[in-house]
Amino acid sequence: MKPAIADGHVVTLHYRLTLDDGFIAEQSFGGEPLAYLHGASNMVPGLERQLAGRNAGEVLELVVPAAEGYGEYDPTAEQRVPRTVFPPDAKLEVGMSFQTRARSGQSMPVWVRAVAGDQVTVTANHPLAGQRLNFRVEILDVRRATPEEKKHGHVHGPGGHQH
Ligand code: ZN
Repeated sequence: MKPAIADGHVVTLHYRLTLDDGFIAEQSFGGEPLAYLHGASNMVPGLERQLAGRNAGEVLELVVPAAEGYGEYDPTAEQRVPRTVFPPDAKLEVGMSFQTRARSGQSMPVWVRAVAGDQVTVTANHPLAGQRLNFRVEILDVRRATPEEKKHGHVHGPGGHQH
């Protein structure tokens, strides 16, 4: 008998993420399923919370509010910076993400929102911030993680890290 989904378990699933306007933002159906380590912050919090206790074989429609997804949209989290702060050979495109260092010294991701001449607008909002996330999930497998996977905080093997 396979265990129910809980912290420290590896979950293999197919998923489709649809926004409220019907746009399919991401999906694994038709490709390789996704494998993730539950309880290691590898998925948005609202999805992990709703998957806990579920079992292999279940097909679920789950709705995750923005606050438990990629966060509410924060209009103040935008900033214009000169092109020169980026590596000269970086080809900047809208939607690209970069790691920056906050004043606290902590590393945080920012996304390119617009490029106009030598000015680049970056935002700390995830591209899906402010969106309600509608997931269709088919749970394919649940197993206990190996001690090494728990130490690394991610899955090894098919659908996970290959190292
Ligand atoms: Zn690893």
